[in-house]
Amino acid sequence: MMRKDEAVQSLSDRDLSDGGKPREACGVFGVYAPGKAVGHLCYLGIFALQHRGQESAGIATSDGQHLTVIRDMGLVSSVFDDRALAALDGQMGIGHTRYSTTGSSAWKNAQPVFRDVSHTQFALAHNGNLTNTAELATQTSMLPGMASSDTDVMAELLSDHLHQNPRCVGHELEGALAAVLPKLRGAFSLVLTDSHSVIGVRDPNGFRPLCLGRLDGGWVLASESPALDIVGAAFVRELDPGEMVVIDRDGVRSLRPFPEDRIDPKLCVFEFVYFARPDSQLYGQSVHAARVRMGEQLADQAPVEADLVMGVPDSGIPAAEGYSRKSGIPFGQGLVKNRYIGRTFIAPSQELREMAVRMKLNPLRENIAGRRLVVVDDSIVRGTTTRAMVKMLREAGAAEVHMRISSPPYRWPCFYGMDTGTRSELLAANMDVGEIKEYLGVDSLSYLPLDRLIAATGAPSAGFCSACLTGDYPVSIPVELRSSVLEEPAAVGDVGQLEGMSS
Ligand code: SF4
Repeated sequence: MMRKDEAVQSLSDRDLSDGGKPREACGVFGVYAPGKAVGHLCYLGIFALQHRGQESAGIATSDGQHLTVIRDMGLVSSVFDDRALAALDGQMGIGHTRYSTTGSSAWKNAQPVFRDVSHTQFALAHNGNLTNTAELATQTSMLPGMASSDTDVMAELLSDHLHQNPRCVGHELEGALAAVLPKLRGAFSLVLTDSHSVIGVRDPNGFRPLCLGRLDGGWVLASESPALDIVGAAFVRELDPGEMVVIDRDGVRSLRPFPEDRIDPKLCVFEFVYFARPDSQLYGQSVHAARVRMGEQLADQAPVEADLVMGVPDSGIPAAEGYSRKSGIPFGQGLVKNRYIGRTFIAPSQELREMAVRMKLNPLRENIAGRRLVVVDDSIVRGTTTRAMVKMLREAGAAEVHMRISSPPYRWPCFYGMDTGTRSELLAANMDVGEIKEYLGVDSLSYLPLDRLIAATGAPSAGFCSACLTGDYPVSIPVELRSSVLEEPAAVGDVGQLEGMSS
């Protein structure tokens, strides 16, 4: 059995590399635009989606005969230069930025993945996590242990279908998708390309976003709408959960490859809270405006007398604006963020861990000293960074620190494409709110309840996944998958919730 202090001690040093937030799985982009520089358009598109994954980047383009794929580890700007982009010509293409949630962080798992089978070449890029990868792997021609990621297994299933149906001429990839997609479980927003089309797919729950845009002389698919803006495309609409869109020389066709009874919209609520760019549109709502409303709800639900409202940069700032507007307490900057920092080192000592936090955030003393602060953040996942930040504010002279979080306690791991670590790494899975307040060293602490969070999105009846807040998983999680990340906290005393989990 793990004691609570041991559980807290085990909170990962990864906390320092990302401000203690869960990491997004990927961003995808696709463009069909004959006569345009599609490689450059893909570059701009995935550049706008860089926040969704920083481990690797890749682009695949098709000239109607052959696919060219360039992918490598690193940021979009370091993977591609003018020479690489010059090689990426054609009429259509797809792009990808990756953060690994299944498969290792290695070149072999960079996307798009590419296959050449039975006179059909195709490339595939994936945002999300399949939950039945192990089961699917047994259905492919791969030898046991050969699959390096869920995307790899997906590509293999498509290849097997193409191999077994070589005479399915004209819409080979479409046919393979119609056969394979219903077998997939979990979260998957996909873009694919072959010699004549670009295809977008959203899983039946629509866990991850995917939208369609109109370009002068073409069409664009993207994880988030700002990637349309950056290439000059007009937003058309979000793809429906369970929709497949095929773009070719005849225009855009919408297909429904999944059984009707599997369609159940469950967009990840953390896309609204933290993951998506503030200038994105989700469920027809502005993400920035939703985050401001979350702050207003927080002020309504958890008022406090204070001198200054400040947000934790960058993602806590819109909710801090909302808290300030609703409460009438002035809004100001209390922390300065180093904008040029990438991943930080794994610090071996507490002193070095605190320095690593200071590399990212430094207090603005003249705004803090002697003041009662309301500090607004969007979430606390592991808590190490938040605790170090509170200590910094105290050392800078803050008279009081009142922490307000614009989402409920994060208690359960995500199986649908976010890396949150195991349950033992989640602060709120190991402590109640009073204990967290003590651990962080704040004068008061309040989280936004789920009903207020959903109301603040502006689309309360649209359908959301909130499994990491409730333990209610909309798509069942195979025993071997959940036991790998759930076992330790159960020993701390949450067995009842485990039993309540859908499976
Ligand atoms: S479990 Fe949480 S992070 Fe994962 S998809 Fe659901 S709401 Fe999003």
